[in-house]
Amino acid sequence: MNDISKRPIDADAAARVFLGQTEEHMVSYLEACVHCGMCAEACHFHEVTGNPRYTPAYKLFPMAKAYRRQRSPLGWLGLIPKVTEQDLAEWEELLFDTCTMCGRCTTICPMGIDIASIVGQARKAFVAAGLGPEDLEAAAVNSRDHGSPLGLSPDKLMDRVEWLEDDFETKMPVDRDRAEVLLTVSSIEAMKYPDSLVAMAKILNHAGVDWTFSTKGYEATNFGYLAGRGDIAKTMTLRIVEAAEAIGAKTVVIPECGHAYGVLRWSGANMIGRALPFEVLHITEYIAKLQREGKLKLKPFADAITYHDPCQVSRRGGATQDARDILGAFATDFREMTPTGDMNWCCGGGGGVQAMGRAAELRHKVFELKVKQTEATGTKKLVSACANCRLTMDESKEATHWDGELLSLVEMVADALVEDDGATVQTNTPA
Ligand code: SF4
Ligand code: SF4
Repeated sequence: MNDISKRPIDADAAARVFLGQTEEHMVSYLEACVHCGMCAEACHFHEVTGNPRYTPAYKLFPMAKAYRRQRSPLGWLGLIPKVTEQDLAEWEELLFDTCTMCGRCTTICPMGIDIASIVGQARKAFVAAGLGPEDLEAAAVNSRDHGSPLGLSPDKLMDRVEWLEDDFETKMPVDRDRAEVLLTVSSIEAMKYPDSLVAMAKILNHAGVDWTFSTKGYEATNFGYLAGRGDIAKTMTLRIVEAAEAIGAKTVVIPECGHAYGVLRWSGANMIGRALPFEVLHITEYIAKLQREGKLKLKPFADAITYHDPCQVSRRGGATQDARDILGAFATDFREMTPTGDMNWCCGGGGGVQAMGRAAELRHKVFELKVKQTEATGTKKLVSACANCRLTMDESKEATHWDGELLSLVEMVADALVEDDGATVQTNTPA
């Protein structure tokens, strides 16, 4: 049962607010969609369930229908059936649980309808009407009030960094007055995959980059955006922007997180109402840049591996080739899965779906698709460059008892670094 069913609300009044706020998006969808159904096969949720309700075009259909009804003469006369709580529960599931905003359907749609963006706007309107999943809302509020969705406060960040610096004997500067690069973190990494933080630091130190973390703006994930809370999305964006401005950073590097990159890079300026005074690069792009500049010395990695393209980094981010350039520099047995690159299947946990407990079963089904893709290459080592994909797939791996291995691109690169004296660099957490 969706969270919405627990709330004492006037469903019809909430629906009116929602439909009123999402008007222009519903109109453009209604005008443009020719109901060809071609997008059905593009969506991983439809692919693994065969459920016609998970056809991308259908995900907006019940809301668009209600919108049209509201705008009809009968609607003006107040003679249309009221929207019920069951209707809202269905809409919530379609907007939040069954769309990862991966954008794969957009690449297929002959009319160029960007379902992912419309879903994002509709989520905002849904939340403005006092609706939406409680766990996503809680993650957004935690980010605003405590610095991150997983409780990574500035003090905890400092504790983590001190601990990691000691254990790995590597410099992880925080709150330097000036730096060329502001490195941000995903709290998923900080709390669950801390080796990734060390790996980023090792790579930047190895390449001689002038960088720092900042306790004023460190959290790259933006659950305000995912939860449809525009106010919190802006707050989180401003924290990074102001921290970068304070130290004069020319570049803000986003860690292994897909949506964090997309939100700051593509929506950040609109959110704060002015141009971003720095370049935004995903860590994949930044490593590829260092690689091209000849600043990384890497030893070969011989195991067979394949790569999962995070949707917001490859398809919607444009860093598809960068990941391949990095792997091509040291992974001697890299195998592309099918489909791959910009047409790769989503991990099933993007768009905040990872944070929704009730969507776990659906995510595990999507993971079966990823396992098939991986094993078809003849390897069970799957690399990615997004901690959210990694967490989603790690949980599904456990739930489905898959015996493959999930790797982080950044950690692989850090493990392959060779210092000038020929020494390799320790990045795995000491036992
Ligand atoms: S954006 Fe992705 S998850 Fe959402 S409907 Fe399209 S293909 Fe499905
Ligand atoms: S592919 Fe585009 S036009 Fe066709 S049904 Fe899907 S959204 Fe509508």
